[in-house]
Amino acid sequence: MDGKDRKKVLFIDRDGVIVNETQVDSFEKIVYIPHVFEAMREISRRSDYLLVMVSNQDGVGTPLFPYEDYIGPAERIFDTLRGEGIVFDDIHIDFSLPEENSPMRKPGTGMIDSYRSDEYDMSKSFVIGDRITDMMLARNMGCRGFLLNGPEVEVPEDLASTVVMHTSDWLDIAAYLLDDKSLAHRKASVSRKTLETDIDISIDIDGTGVGRIITGIGFFDHMMDQVVRHSRFDASGSVKGDLDVDFHHTVEDTALALGSAVLKALGDKRGIERYGSEIVMMDDTVATAAIDFSGRPEFIFDAEFSLPMIGDFPSELIRHFFRSFAAEAKCNLYLSARKGGDSHHTAEALFKAFARAMRKAVKRIPGDSRVASTKGVL
Ligand SMILES: [Mg+2]
Repeated sequence: MDGKDRKKVLFIDRDGVIVNETQVDSFEKIVYIPHVFEAMREISRRSDYLLVMVSNQDGVGTPLFPYEDYIGPAERIFDTLRGEGIVFDDIHIDFSLPEENSPMRKPGTGMIDSYRSDEYDMSKSFVIGDRITDMMLARNMGCRGFLLNGPEVEVPEDLASTVVMHTSDWLDIAAYLLDDKSLAHRKASVSRKTLETDIDISIDIDGTGVGRIITGIGFFDHMMDQVVRHSRFDASGSVKGDLDVDFHHTVEDTALALGSAVLKALGDKRGIERYGSEIVMMDDTVATAAIDFSGRPEFIFDAEFSLPMIGDFPSELIRHFFRSFAAEAKCNLYLSARKGGDSHHTAEALFKAFARAMRKAVKRIPGDSRVASTKGVL
């Protein structure tokens, strides 16, 4: 058969890949892996890979895993996938126990030996699995593998050439298979340790606004919650600062780490809006934010606080936060607020406007991979 007509296959594991790795013997135990629907839908829609499930379900039919406990949840999983346009061309499940050493059981190829024919091109086919045994299956089939698991799983040297990618994110796999970087979420982690602060922050700027950055300063944590919610960045992090001195280092270094994480997540900034602005009202005040991820730091702040302290938080640190962010994110940041309003409102409106402006500026323009500058670089 002509090479270009031979079919390509994705052999997909179930537990640890589609749903969480556990014995799924009740409906409550069906927990889907993040982004599995988004990634598999794009792959189904935009490629001609056949989708073939290959799963070991240890001991189904024994008292430890009765068939009736297996089948309901299993059918529910396939029904849900089908409802999202993800249809498997074939499903192979092995019920044996490891000690039976069945040739059907992964990494044995017994379940999928029929694909070793002229009709299929194993050199262009992949196994997607969460275990090293899945990667062994890939090697045994003469195809390659995506290991969907955290960095704590080590790939042995003899499988290094089989594993094309080791990632904990389905969207990375979709981006690779479809050769479309825009499918992958833009993420960054920043660790920053000085004598004054110890910070770990992770962000996903294509997130949905979940997670928290905890600094140990109540008011500031509240402002960070506003940033996460209104930017719709997913964020997690902890900041351990020298709060026994004052709040200055903690606020400044959080801003530097966040700015650095945003800059890192933006990468080469291809296809982004670049500019964003927002006006946010809050009772007696109104705040404006405008941001340009220009690659150049500039900061203009036209706001005043009625009170020098908001609870135990010095108002002047708000200005300092934004200045530090702009320096590290290499952006132009303009902020203003109506004077004379309640200081808590002024601060909150500024943080919300900043977050919403940022959300607009980092947004990707569908189908555009250009840099939003006539210089060709930002
Ligand atoms: Mg698995």
